[in-house]
Amino acid sequence: MDEDEPLPSYEGLAAAFAKAKAEKERDEAQGLRATTGNAAAANKQGEVHFKASHGILIAFFSWILALHALGIYLFTSGFLLTRLVLEHRSHCSVPPIDVAGSYTPGSPDAGCWHPKTFDKAIVIIVDALRYDFTIPFHPTEPEKPRHFHNSIPFLYDTAVKHPNNAFLLPFIADPPTTTLQRLKGLTTGTLPTFLDAGSNFAGTAIDEDNLIEQLHNASKRIVHLGDDTWHALFPGYFESNLTHAYDSFNVWDLHTVDNGVTEHIFPLIHPSNTSQWDVIIGHYLGVDHAGHRYGPEHPAMTAKLNQMDDIFRRMVDQLDDDTLLVVMGDHGMDAKGDHGGESDDEIQAALWMYSKRDRFGRSSPSYNIPPATAKERPVSQIDLVPTLSILLGMPIPFNNLGAPIEEAFIGPKGNDFQNLATVSRLTAAQIHRYQQEYTRGKGLDDTTRATALSLWDTANGAWTSLGGSKRSTHDQLHHISSAFLAYQAETLSICRALWAEFDVPRMLHGVQILALTLLTLGLYARGLDGERAELTPILLTRGIIGTLLGAGLGMGISFAFSQLPREHVVIYTTAVGSIAGISTGFWHIRRRLVSPLPNSIWGWVCVTVTVALSAGFAANSFTIWEDEILLHFLCTFGILGALSSFRQKNSIDRALGCYHSILFVVLTRIASLSRLCREEQMPYCVSTYYASANSSTSATWQLAIPYTVAFLLPNFIRSYYKGTRNFQGSVVTWFDFALRFGLLLSAAYWTLDTADDGDWYPGYGEMLKTTKTIIAQLVFAIALAFGYSTFAWSKPFLNIETKTRGATSSSDQVVADGGTSSITILGYANVHGSRYAFLVTMWFLAITLVQKPMGAGAIGIAWWQIFSLFEIIDTNKLSDTPVGPVVLGLLGSFHFFKTGHQATLSSIQWESAFIPLRTIKYPWSPLVVVLNTFGAQILCAIAVPAIVLWKQPPKKKGLLGDVAKAIGTHILFYAVINLATTMWAGHLRRHLMLYRIFSPRFMTGALVLLTVDVVAIFIALGGARISFLSVGEVFGWTG
Ligand SMILES: [Zn+2]
Ligand SMILES: [Zn+2]
Repeated sequence: MDEDEPLPSYEGLAAAFAKAKAEKERDEAQGLRATTGNAAAANKQGEVHFKASHGILIAFFSWILALHALGIYLFTSGFLLTRLVLEHRSHCSVPPIDVAGSYTPGSPDAGCWHPKTFDKAIVIIVDALRYDFTIPFHPTEPEKPRHFHNSIPFLYDTAVKHPNNAFLLPFIADPPTTTLQRLKGLTTGTLPTFLDAGSNFAGTAIDEDNLIEQLHNASKRIVHLGDDTWHALFPGYFESNLTHAYDSFNVWDLHTVDNGVTEHIFPLIHPSNTSQWDVIIGHYLGVDHAGHRYGPEHPAMTAKLNQMDDIFRRMVDQLDDDTLLVVMGDHGMDAKGDHGGESDDEIQAALWMYSKRDRFGRSSPSYNIPPATAKERPVSQIDLVPTLSILLGMPIPFNNLGAPIEEAFIGPKGNDFQNLATVSRLTAAQIHRYQQEYTRGKGLDDTTRATALSLWDTANGAWTSLGGSKRSTHDQLHHISSAFLAYQAETLSICRALWAEFDVPRMLHGVQILALTLLTLGLYARGLDGERAELTPILLTRGIIGTLLGAGLGMGISFAFSQLPREHVVIYTTAVGSIAGISTGFWHIRRRLVSPLPNSIWGWVCVTVTVALSAGFAANSFTIWEDEILLHFLCTFGILGALSSFRQKNSIDRALGCYHSILFVVLTRIASLSRLCREEQMPYCVSTYYASANSSTSATWQLAIPYTVAFLLPNFIRSYYKGTRNFQGSVVTWFDFALRFGLLLSAAYWTLDTADDGDWYPGYGEMLKTTKTIIAQLVFAIALAFGYSTFAWSKPFLNIETKTRGATSSSDQVVADGGTSSITILGYANVHGSRYAFLVTMWFLAITLVQKPMGAGAIGIAWWQIFSLFEIIDTNKLSDTPVGPVVLGLLGSFHFFKTGHQATLSSIQWESAFIPLRTIKYPWSPLVVVLNTFGAQILCAIAVPAIVLWKQPPKKKGLLGDVAKAIGTHILFYAVINLATTMWAGHLRRHLMLYRIFSPRFMTGALVLLTVDVVAIFIALGGARISFLSVGEVFGWTG
C-alpha cells in the first residue's frame, strides 16, 4: 500500500490487518492457530477486563482527590480569618451613651444621635481611584509625569482654594482590595475576613448592620447607578424606578458603565428632580477597567481621569446647598493596574468631600494643602461610616470600628472642638457597646481588652470632669476627643489581632490528612511491585469500607460530645478512617510492597529536586524567586539528560538523546525570556510579558509570536510523528489543516484584540468585539469538539503494507514474518504513544487561545519540550522511573510563570473569562480563567500517560498499570509541594509576609493540586481509555 492510496477507515484498518494476516496464513497454509471463535471470546473478555480495571483506577484516583479536598478544606477553614458576625442593629432612638447638652435624640429628620449637617448626599465611587492620581505631580529630574499624573486636578484644586467647602485625604483600604470586600467595609465599618475574598465572583447580601440599611429603615430614598455588585450586597434597598445597574465584570469595556451612570445622574441632580431622592450612589468602573486592561501608564487612563474630572466640575455646578458630595476610590491599583493584595499602591485610595456651603475646616492651617503622599494624615476607609452616618443624621452601624474624620466636624473656622469631642465620644461609645456584645457572644475575657477598657475609663473620666461646661477650653476638648479616638484605635488594633486568630486544631488535622494521603499515594505510586490495575481493587474496597466506618464513628462522636464542632470531627474521622482502611489493603498485599525510595541515580535526582523545592518554600526569598529556581532545575535536568545519553550503547539512542536534551535546555532558556515580575522582585527583574512593566496589554510586536507558533510549531511536532512513521490517517488532517487553522485563528483573535485595544479602527469596536468572540468560540470548537471526535473515532495512526518475501524492511516495522510474504505495519513501534499524544495536541490548541501572545509562545515551547521529553525518556530507558512525571511537574510549574502568572492574587488574568464569551456565564467563565491560569500544569498533566506509552508496541502487557503509576507519581509531586506550602503557611502564620507571600503560595499550591487531580483523572486517564480501546480494537486484547 503506498502513500497515495486512500487511507483505510477505522474498521478498514482492522479488516486490512485481518485480511493480510489471513492471506499470509492461507499462502503459507500453516493453520496451527487458535480457532476464530475462541479468539473472539478471549478478545471480548480482554476488553471487558480492561474497561473494569480502568473504571477502578478512575475511582481510586477520585478517592485520592476527595482526600486532598478534605485536607485542604479543613486546613483552610482554620487558617483563614474568622469573625463572629453580630446580628445587632443600632437604633435611632437608642444612642450608645447619654447625649450631651440639650439635644433630644431619636428623630431621623433632625439627626438621630446628633444634629445632622446635610439633608442629602451624592456618593460617587470611582473604582480604583488611587491617591497619587489626584494630587499634582512634582517631577524630580529625570522623572517625567506619567499618563495617570495631573489628569484629575479638580479635587485637589478645590481642596486648596476652598478649604471650607472641600477636603482631599488619602483613604486607606483594608486588604483584600477587591471591590466586594471594600463595599462591605465602606458600609458596615468593620474589617474583612479573608474567607470572603474568594466570594468576589458571586457577592451575597450583607447580613450586618450597615449604612444603607439604616438609610432605608429611616425611609430615605436611595438611588443606585453603576456597578451591580451593590445589588448583590443590598438587594431591594434601592428605588427601583430610578436605579440602573450594570454588569461589573466586563473589564474590557471601559465606557458602558460610566456612560450609564453619567446619563442618569445629571437629570437627577437637576433642581426639578432633587425631590425624588435622598441619597444617590454612583459607582464608576472605567478607571478600574482601564487599569486592568491597559495599566495606569496608558493614554486611556489619562482620558478616563479627564472624563471624571469634567463630571465632577459639572456636578459641583449643579449641586444645591444642602447636599453633600463625596468622591472616593474603593482601593488603588498596582503598577500593572490590578488589585486584590495589600501593597501600598493597592490600598491607597483617595477621599474627597464637597459642600456648597461652608461646612468643613482644618484644625491647623498647614493642613489646607492635601498630603503630598498617602503616608501623611491618612484616614481609614471604615472612617467613612461614622462620618457619613453623623453628617446625615443616621445612627452609627452597630459593628463599626471607624472614627469620625476631623475635617468634617471641626467647623469652618477650624476650632469647633466641642463638636469634634461630641462625635468622637458618640462613635467611641458605640464601639464600646459593640465590644461588650462581641465579648459576650464569643466568650472572651476582659484581659484581652484591658488596655482598651482603661483608655475608655480615662476618656470618660475627662469628659465627666468637664461636666459639659460651656467654658471648656479648646485644649481640654481637643484632649477629650483624642482620648476617645485613642480608645477607638486601640479597639481596632485588638480586633485586627483577634480576627487574625487561627483555629490551630483544624489546621493540624488538615495537615495530617494531607500527609497521610501523601504517604498512601507515595506507596501506591512508587512502592508497589506488580500490575497496579490488578492491585487497585483491593485497596479501593478496603478504602471505601474504612471511609464508611470513619464517617459513622465521626457522627457518633459528634452526637455523644455535642460541644465538639461536628463538621470538623466528621471530616477528620472520615479521612483517617479511609486511610486506615487502605492501610489494611496494603497489608493484605504486603508481598507486593517494595521500598518506595528510589534505587537509581535518576530516582534520587527526582527526590532531591522535589524535597529541595518543598523546603525552599519556608523562605520568602525562595518563594519570590521560584520562577528562576525552576529554570535552573530544568536546565540541570537537560544537562543530565545529555550526559546520560552519551553513555547509551546504541548510537541512534545516543544521538537522539543528546539532540533532544540540548533542545530541551535551549527551549527552557528561550521560554525564560518571558517574565512577569512580582512586586517583591523589583528592581532585579524586568517584566517582558506585557508591553512594559506598567502595562497590562501586549506590545504590537508580540503579535508575531502566535503567528510564528501557528506556522512553525505544527511542523516541529509533526516530525515526532514522522520519526516513528505514525504520521498516518487522521493525524495528517489534524496537523496540516485543523490544528494549523486553529492556531492561525487564535493568532487572528489576538490581532483583533490588539486592534480593539489600540482603537485602530475607530467606530468598528463593536464589530471587532463580535468577530473576535466568534473566532474564539470557533477555536474551542476545533480544539475540543472536532478534536475529541477525531480522538474518539480515529483508528491508530498506522499504515499496513504487505510485501512478498525478499523485500527489505527495517526491523522495527515487521510484526508478522516468516514464509513467503510479510505484513509490515508502519508506525507499529509507537502505536500507543502516538495515539494518546494526540490528546495533548488538542488541549494545546485550547490552552494557547486563552493565553496572551507572549503566553502563546510559552505554551508552544512547553508543548515542544513535552515531545522532546518523551524522546529523552525513551532513549535513556527511563519510562519506569519517576523522571518523566516529575520533570512534567517542574515544566508545568515553570511555564505557569512564563505564561504571565505569579503566586499573587493580582496576577490572575480575570479578563481571560471574556475571550470566548462577552458576559459572565457559569460554569464557563471560571473554567476559562482556570484554563488561563493553570494552562501549563494542565497541559503537562495531560502528557503524563504518554511518558509510559511512547514507543510501546500494542501487545505490551501491564501498560494500563504503568499509566496509573506515572499519574500517581505526577500527582505525588504536586501533593508534596502542596503539603510543604500548607505546612509553611501554617507554621509562619505570624510572619509579617504571611498575606503577601506565604498565604498566596499556599492557595496556589492547593488549587494546582486539585486542578491537576481533576485533569489527571478525567482528561488524562479518561483519554487513555479511548486510546487503549482504539489500539485494542485493531490488535486485540492480550488480557
Ligand atoms: Zn473596585
Ligand atoms: Zn478592579
